[in-house]
Amino acid sequence: MKIASIETFPLFYPLTQPYGDANGYKQYRTCFLFRITTQSGITGWGECVDWLPTLKLGFENRIIPHLIGKNALNRLQLVNHIKKWHQRAAAGVSMALTEIAAKHSGLSVCDLWGGRWREEVPVYASFQSYTDKVGWAKHSIHLVEQALDYGFTMIKVKIGGKTFKEDLMHILGVRNVMSENHQLILDANQSYDFSTAKQWGQPISEWNNFLWFEEPLPINLVSDYKLLRSSFPAPIAGGENLKNAKEFLAFLREGAIDIIQPDIAHEDGVDGFRHTLQLSRYFGVRASPHTFDGALSRLYAIFAQACLPAWSKMPLENIEPVEWDVMENPFNSIIPIEPGRGTAAIPTGEGIGVELDQGIIERYCWDGSMYS
Ligand code: MG
Repeated sequence: MKIASIETFPLFYPLTQPYGDANGYKQYRTCFLFRITTQSGITGWGECVDWLPTLKLGFENRIIPHLIGKNALNRLQLVNHIKKWHQRAAAGVSMALTEIAAKHSGLSVCDLWGGRWREEVPVYASFQSYTDKVGWAKHSIHLVEQALDYGFTMIKVKIGGKTFKEDLMHILGVRNVMSENHQLILDANQSYDFSTAKQWGQPISEWNNFLWFEEPLPINLVSDYKLLRSSFPAPIAGGENLKNAKEFLAFLREGAIDIIQPDIAHEDGVDGFRHTLQLSRYFGVRASPHTFDGALSRLYAIFAQACLPAWSKMPLENIEPVEWDVMENPFNSIIPIEPGRGTAAIPTGEGIGVELDQGIIERYCWDGSMYS
């Protein structure tokens, strides 16, 4: 099972209308895919996120030479080594080697992991609500309406990038196009101090279809999270940029959070990510995977959620949703799964059970030019 070759596919797409959150506007979307092939011809896809020139150089000069000739089934050792150079590249390698291990065994990824608890996983529509145009709020509400018409029942909208008053007006407008069957998530991207975060408690306390308040505070302020959680009228969520299960432990031990949000592309790969999800079960809190950096990462998050025991005994609400990027982003369609009715069906075929869309990969091939 020696690794014979690795091809890379850096992809780039300039946005027609920049969009963003409290951290600023995105001018483009990128995707870095690679395919590992073994000497026996088994292939596995990986995906990671960073500035494309960094990834291209890192793969060509260091990661690929290190992996060629190694045993593809030594996933944990190989990922642990590459993690020291580039954690997010290692996360991608863990995806490709997981797919190879599954195909080598003649199994789907979920069967390799011990089997699915469920055949589909709920997903929520995730928005980047801000644009640099005057009518940003109206545009945002229109996008929310489109997603609800499509069949999403849960939506995540951004706050924290405008004044409290302006954000509240926007959110009230969003709520106007929602029905009681739709559920709302607000994400502040670590924008507030404690007292400003608390201001949201009053309007949120009046909404009975509110799912969670995401990253109201800088994520290092564990004691402030604990204090906020103790009096806030809704669940507090966060952790999309934490790097491993150990970093989540501080929140879990302190009882500082209701819902952890590990991201498979930001953690120690597939295996580390699954450890974090399991950790949530030991501590009796929920885990809703964050995944905004690629469709392959999202597919692995869906697999992991399919294989995770339920968080409660409530039959219709016992597994937490996975994030689904609904913004302008052609790379969303690389994996051919539709989130109809706000759920994603789990592919059951060997390996990841789907073929990546080669047309998109060819169309948006990065030309190698620098960008900022
Ligand atoms: Mg977030």
